[in-house]
Amino acid sequence: MRYLVLSDIHANLEALESTLAAAGEWDAVLVLGDLVGYGADPNAVIGRVQSLPNATIIRGNHDKVGAGVETVESFNHLARHAISWTSTELTAANRDWLAAMRAGPALIDDLVEICHGSPFDEDAYIFDELDARRGVVASQRPVCLYGHTHVPAIFKYDGELSAIGPPRGPRHRLTLEPKAKYLINCGAVGQPRDGDPRAAFGLLDTESRTLTVLRVAYDVHTAQAKIISAGLPEVLAQRLAIGR
Ligand code: ZN
Repeated sequence: MRYLVLSDIHANLEALESTLAAAGEWDAVLVLGDLVGYGADPNAVIGRVQSLPNATIIRGNHDKVGAGVETVESFNHLARHAISWTSTELTAANRDWLAAMRAGPALIDDLVEICHGSPFDEDAYIFDELDARRGVVASQRPVCLYGHTHVPAIFKYDGELSAIGPPRGPRHRLTLEPKAKYLINCGAVGQPRDGDPRAAFGLLDTESRTLTVLRVAYDVHTAQAKIISAGLPEVLAQRLAIGR
């Protein structure tokens, strides 16, 4: 099985389209939440994700707040501004669809599970080895894919926990060892924060037991222009160009 792994699309249609065009062939897609928030195309991104075949989709914190399932209290000023704009922009049907999204973690097969933030709490961040240690204990599959931080990362546990990487370059390929457990963040499609502005995504081949983190350039200028003309904070456009 070849899984396409998408996380944190954040209403960035240009990044999503370039990612799908670069992804090549896959059998099923795993969407790790935060379809909306920050970007200017929440409805179009939801429609595009809905059109993907064999999709397993879990919610992110922006999906919950955008749909009114959760209050905005945990959000900083920028995220608040963007999500209140998003809520008014969403069609009623899309708001209902977001509100009905399932929470992670979700078990996909014998090898893979997915979550938005972490396998112990959908809203918790896995940044460092301390966070990853909790994640490894909580995860129920050898490979746990997560998002939320917008930073690609690979943690391996084989009796000891280690960070491999961070994954860099246009393609970073990892062969999964048979007895190890992994926590892997393939990065953000629509708002990378690791200093590389290219969209980030993953391809996981369960037969060859390889996971590849990929980067693809997209039309940042158009995504930025849409953010500005929507009246969203300018810094949300600026950060796309620097990947922060
Ligand atoms: Zn996010």
